[in-house]
Amino acid sequence: MQKNAIQKVVIVGGGTAGWMAAAMLAKTAGRSLDITLVESDDIGTIGVGEATIPPIQLFNNHLGLDEDDFLRKTMGTFKLGIQFDNWGRKGDSYMHTFGRVGRDLGAIPFHHYWLRSLKEGGKDSLWDYSFNHKAAYANKFARMLKIKNSPLDGLTYAFHFDATLYARYLRDYSEKLGVKRIEGKVVDVILRGEDGFIDHLLLENSAEIPGDLFLDCSGFKGVLIEGALKTGYEDWSHWLPCNRAIAVPCESAGPLKPYTVSTALTAGWQWRIPLQHRTGNGHVYCSDYISDDEAADMLLQNLDGPPLADPRFLRFTTGRRKKFWHKNCIVLGLASGFMEPLESTSIHLFQAGITRLVKLFPDKKCSQADVDEYNRQAIYEFEGIRDFIILHYHLTQRTDTDFWRDCGQMEVPESLKQKMALFRSNGRIFWDTMELFAENSWLQVMVGQGLMPHSYHALTHQVKSDNMEEYLENIRIIQDRALSTLPLHRDFIAGHCSAPGSSLAGQ
Ligand SMILES: Cc1cc2nc3c(=O)[nH]c(=O)nc-3n(C[C@H](O)[C@H](O)[C@H](O)COP(=O)(O)OP(=O)(O)OC[C@H]3O[C@@H](n4cnc5c(N)ncnc54)[C@H](O)[C@@H]3O)c2cc1C
Repeated sequence: MQKNAIQKVVIVGGGTAGWMAAAMLAKTAGRSLDITLVESDDIGTIGVGEATIPPIQLFNNHLGLDEDDFLRKTMGTFKLGIQFDNWGRKGDSYMHTFGRVGRDLGAIPFHHYWLRSLKEGGKDSLWDYSFNHKAAYANKFARMLKIKNSPLDGLTYAFHFDATLYARYLRDYSEKLGVKRIEGKVVDVILRGEDGFIDHLLLENSAEIPGDLFLDCSGFKGVLIEGALKTGYEDWSHWLPCNRAIAVPCESAGPLKPYTVSTALTAGWQWRIPLQHRTGNGHVYCSDYISDDEAADMLLQNLDGPPLADPRFLRFTTGRRKKFWHKNCIVLGLASGFMEPLESTSIHLFQAGITRLVKLFPDKKCSQADVDEYNRQAIYEFEGIRDFIILHYHLTQRTDTDFWRDCGQMEVPESLKQKMALFRSNGRIFWDTMELFAENSWLQVMVGQGLMPHSYHALTHQVKSDNMEEYLENIRIIQDRALSTLPLHRDFIAGHCSAPGSSLAGQ
């Protein structure tokens, strides 16, 4: 063993973030690390958060989870995208689907051919070329990487699941790999005099928990990173003003949709997330424009079925910690910052943070170069997601309430202005490989909310009009044929991964 090798890792917090971190470290390091997780049943977890994005498959695969078993134990369903209602204008609807729309032709992205076709009189929507979109609206699903006998992508998917059950599932997994769980409340954090590193935690029952490396997964409070190390918070409320949420589950109604629905309301938006046994609902809003009572009434009136619990009221400030890694403490989960769940990015950010930590896993000294690199990557990732979420608000054409008027008129970050200007002129989208949301995501949200480019890539004219139309038509035909072979989402779940006790079991 190296002289300064980390031997003992202490995780504070047993929500989704804490148990994801424990599972990943235990799987990667085996028994070479002594991992302890401290959580307080009195404080509890936040218990909401049910929609994910496709990279979660990588995380689950790394752990070696059986996908059907995981879905069964978390009441999970499949997710092909997010439908956005009333975001551009009232009555508008579009979907941000996962996966690629159409298929690039040589070096020129697909959407330039679609744009050219429109200029030449074509009438098809962008989504006429999205297989995910077609399957979503037909309420169909199957695991299909490629469309058979074609070069076209099949379905790209993520999951909806109960985040509390997911944490419980990962707890079982981690404990089997030797992670120790301690029930208790951290009441003090003792720093070392010589370098300000965390030396040990003091629990309410006077137990001392020493460690070499500490992961702060303690939720919004940030017990270590803010409570003890006081690293500060960067507030993004001026760009993302929503600061409250109300969550309430209700009985399922109608067909089992393989997508999330996000409906813009008067001062925020409502999510609907279909699980096997219920629908998760929430209203995210800004308290400067609507009272808590009005927001709760609005949510309860918009439920698809009878509520199954009392509404839960949550408060937050959008932004991020100034440092994600400081001294011997790394922050993950809600403790690291918060952006509203419009694009289901929180759980992904935990996953990305843990993966980054594994790549930069330190020794007891925590080299400043490693710490700086971790922080640089984490900040870059947070800011890319921030810009993408602001885009949804800023591109609104709604003027029916003060909230939407203010969103449409707000000054946005320079990085976002450049992306919109580039797309507006010739339909170009560039993104860094480290950015989470790639070309197809930006494309669908910009087009979906009415930002259409003035022109398109000049080199599309290397293809004759007739050939281009034939190419486009072939994509539609192949996708439509494949769609007819797909089972219904509910039937697929019933056949593979229905949870005992859910309405889909035993069908
Ligand atoms: C309204 C809302 C909607 C969301 N929707 C989504 C979504 O659709 N998709 C998505 O990816 N994410 C979503 N999220 C995020 C998601 O809920 C959370 O990321 C996740 O479920 C829980 O995060 P966590 O583990 O960081 O914190 P928590 O669940 O709050 O867990 C904190 C843990 O720390 C422990 N703790 C705290 N203080 C102490 C102490 N002093 N001593 C000991 N233990 C302590 C607690 O007991 C608990 O175990 C949403 C969040 C909100 C607020």
